[in-house]
Amino acid sequence: RQRVGLNGLLDQYVSLAYHGMRAQKLDLNVIIERDYDEAVGAIELVPQEIGRVFVNLLTNAFHALREKQRSAAGPYVPTLMVSTRRLGREVEIRVRDNGVGVPEALRAKIFHPFFTTKPTGQGTGLGLSLSYDIVQAHRGTLRVDGREGEGATFIVALPG
Ligand code: ADP
Ligand code: MG
Repeated sequence: RQRVGLNGLLDQYVSLAYHGMRAQKLDLNVIIERDYDEAVGAIELVPQEIGRVFVNLLTNAFHALREKQRSAAGPYVPTLMVSTRRLGREVEIRVRDNGVGVPEALRAKIFHPFFTTKPTGQGTGLGLSLSYDIVQAHRGTLRVDGREGEGATFIVALPG
């Protein structure tokens, strides 16, 4: 583990995920909003592991946005919002999208290994379960919020 500035790390992976998405020619015109709390500062973590969590959450968000973009009837602006917040001795990272959202009935299942709603060959179903394990190994929590059809918010809380 290392002491790492969380906002900088997150921002680095937002760029990485965005360029990865562009490189894959994913047809998505996304607006990315960033809201970083300076009070978050540096915390103890394994940067490659937490970075992997960020990439998984961001990649999922891009897919959810593209799905909604494809099916949207009226005007639609695919938006990704990444934010950080210090809450006492904890820091919270939120990855929020206004994509298709997660149906209530799937809320618990999406964290299970191999659970995917993506077509065969397009999703391993391992991203969230791996992310869950990584966050847990950092003594943090990973949860999902949001309403189906209005998007999803994934919340990572880490001690620090
Ligand atoms: P994969 O991306 O390979 O399907 P994940 O473990 O990353 O596997 O995600 C599992 C499932 O959780 C996805 O197939 C999708 O149904 C749901 N999911 C994850 N992130 C989002 C999101 N941001 N919006 C809507 N659904 C999501
Ligand atoms: Mg995934």
